[in-house]
Amino acid sequence: MSGFAVRVEGVSKRYPTASAEAPAALDDVSFAIDGGRVVAVAGPSGSGKSTLLHLIGAMDETEQGSIRVGEREVTRLSREEQVAYRRTIGFVFQRFHLLAALSTLDNVAAPLLPRRTDFDKHGRAADLLRAVGLAGKEQTVPSRLSGGEQQRVAIARALINEPGLLLADEPTGNLDSATSSEIIELLLRLRDERGMTVLIATHDPVVAARCDRIVTLSDGRVADDIQVERAASEDLLGRIGRLDLRG
Ligand code: ADP
Repeated sequence: MSGFAVRVEGVSKRYPTASAEAPAALDDVSFAIDGGRVVAVAGPSGSGKSTLLHLIGAMDETEQGSIRVGEREVTRLSREEQVAYRRTIGFVFQRFHLLAALSTLDNVAAPLLPRRTDFDKHGRAADLLRAVGLAGKEQTVPSRLSGGEQQRVAIARALINEPGLLLADEPTGNLDSATSSEIIELLLRLRDERGMTVLIATHDPVVAARCDRIVTLSDGRVADDIQVERAASEDLLGRIGRLDLRG
């Protein structure tokens, strides 16, 4: 699967419940991403990151503008087409959203269970658990896993339909910094292996600096859009790592 290109053009969104004085959640946002890139959507809380990911994932209605993902004009899909479209993308959330009563294997296979497939669902789920470093934990329930392990299960589940685009909304928001680094490195490796496009909403600059590019939002507008020079970012992270932050 090659990753979907994403093109956002003049997208605006105002929530009907927002007060009249409040700025629009998104205000004329435009950018384009080539397939297979890992891009951070950065910015402080309330800047519009989640709203943007929801619109790209067809989980909410776009008020104005157009969003194209791969061959699809997401902003023009019927309800049935939205359902089919969502099966071609994967979602990862801050709070993991695993089903507590199910084993990790069944959590990963869950999106496939209502469907007839011409491949072995649990075989594919087991392969994905191996790919995220959780071989041997297939029968474990989520409550027996660490936060980082639970997010790995959620990432495996998000990949079960072999998506062309992975949308991750604050995927490291509930994790300590060492575990956050492991999760971002995992997403980068999975992109290298599978080629999907990855969009990560994050307010963590260290996570953003690992991505290929950082689109920064501020009050619903694109405030900055930079390509990350890999060598420069390694150097910067090395320096951050060497800083003595104890004062
Ligand atoms: P971020 O993900 O960067 O924290 P959000 O996209 O969640 O930002 O929010 C952008 C703006 O839209 C904020 O001002 C927020 O209060 C508002 N907002 C988000 N969701 C809703 C909603 N369901 N109803 C009304 N306002 C919302």
